[in-house]
Amino acid sequence: MSATLEALRREFGGDIIEPGAAAYEAARSSILVSGSPAVVLRPKDVADVRAGVRFATRAGLPLSVRGGGHAFAGFGTNDGGVVIDLSNLATVEIVDPERHRVRIGGGATWGQVAAVLAPRGLAISSGDTKSVGVGGLTLSGGIGWKVRKYGLALDNVTEAEVVTAGGDVVRASALEHPDLFWAIRGGGGNFGIVTAFEFTAHPTTDVFHGRITFPAAEVPGVLRGWADHLRTAPEELSSIVSFANPFAGGPEAPIEIHVVFDGDDERLAAQALDPIRRLGTVLEDDVALTPYADTLVDGVTPPPGIQLVTRSAFADRAAVPAVLDILAEVGASQRPPFIAVRSVGGAVSRVPADATAYAHRAAELMFATTVAGPAPVIDAARPGLEGIWRRLAPHTSGAYANFLASATEEDVAAIYPAPTYQRLAAVKRRYDPANLFAGNHNVRPQ
Ligand SMILES: Cc1cc2nc3c(=O)[nH]c(=O)nc-3n(C[C@H](O)[C@H](O)[C@H](O)COP(=O)(O)OP(=O)(O)OC[C@H]3O[C@@H](n4cnc5c(N)ncnc54)[C@H](O)[C@@H]3O)c2cc1C
Repeated sequence: MSATLEALRREFGGDIIEPGAAAYEAARSSILVSGSPAVVLRPKDVADVRAGVRFATRAGLPLSVRGGGHAFAGFGTNDGGVVIDLSNLATVEIVDPERHRVRIGGGATWGQVAAVLAPRGLAISSGDTKSVGVGGLTLSGGIGWKVRKYGLALDNVTEAEVVTAGGDVVRASALEHPDLFWAIRGGGGNFGIVTAFEFTAHPTTDVFHGRITFPAAEVPGVLRGWADHLRTAPEELSSIVSFANPFAGGPEAPIEIHVVFDGDDERLAAQALDPIRRLGTVLEDDVALTPYADTLVDGVTPPPGIQLVTRSAFADRAAVPAVLDILAEVGASQRPPFIAVRSVGGAVSRVPADATAYAHRAAELMFATTVAGPAPVIDAARPGLEGIWRRLAPHTSGAYANFLASATEEDVAAIYPAPTYQRLAAVKRRYDPANLFAGNHNVRPQ
């Protein structure tokens, strides 16, 4: 590799970080998984990204592309390979104030986006955490606090600048390279490095944001009531329910309904939220008018040695009662996983299933189980988790790529229904025939 690396030094303007360098310790790992790459490249512009891609091909080493570094499966690092870390490509620029068009560097985080958009009264429906990358979240979906009103993050992308495996820079939009544009909206990092996204942002006011909590004993009724309400509630309301939180008592932990009502009209917010308050015995209710940017929380990096095993699936309308009953039962069991259920539907379900490579448009809910701890704790929990997911399997559909800590063939088959996968494989063959971009839920070239 050394001769290839010497050649790279002549054309690469960004940082080249090798083992032994002061910056290596921080650069080698992603947020949730540690790694020991042979070299980390931190490009400063698109020319560097092209040079980095050509270098990875010549070096013949595995390549990881790192956006915000939050993938549960640790895609942002590797052992012995090349990491292209996009964190210096983080410019956020309003390029068309009239149409609210925003150009965002492929390595920006949602906190950086909110910092630029909030003073202009704009927002993009994204996730709930500042440190999560725009790249990873958007390329596989993006279920955030305004998802029912504005859809997934990827539904708001209008074009992207992509460096392909061949080192070419192409623009993907409805008009240019439409096959690539379709594929990157759901197909993850399989098709190239997105050096910039263009999004349509939406005007935002302050929003009603907070948590309404109920006793653990009321989980079954509260869960069902919540899901029923979300079905007909105004799309301004997006919500996440979490329970069995191991840091708050596990099976004894209160059930928390996190809400954002997208608007500042107190009467309308109350109309949307009061039915939730009537679902049971309210323990706490801290819902308050909040600047949208302040609804995003800082991400937490787990201490070294702590692993997070997250698994997810979707529930369509007919499956919701059975799925929620099982989850309620699991939450009340001994040492349950942490369970979170997110509302989708609304604007997400108005997009045809084949319009983007994210196909789970009919789902009402996306839910995830998470176990956190050192390796022995994870190993001890695995059989129980398998049992839970075996019970859920007949009722669930698919998996949400962004909440998966593994990347098996079954995972990939769950993320992409067969027709989606076939179409992605054809696009992959065109833009990455040698499967250079394999550090992801991998689609093999057809
Ligand atoms: C604390 C936390 C909170 C979260 N909250 C939410 C949430 O509210 N909603 C939600 O939908 N998801 C959420 N997620 C999941 C999140 O969307 C995924 O973890 C996502 O993969 C993170 O993207 P990243 O860029 O930070 O990660 P990375 O690990 O850097 O990247 C993830 C994948 O995307 C690829 N990639 C990243 N950027 C680019 C790019 N510019 N071009 C090409 N490929 C790229 C990488 O190669 C990798 O395969 C959360 C995760 C965590 C850990």
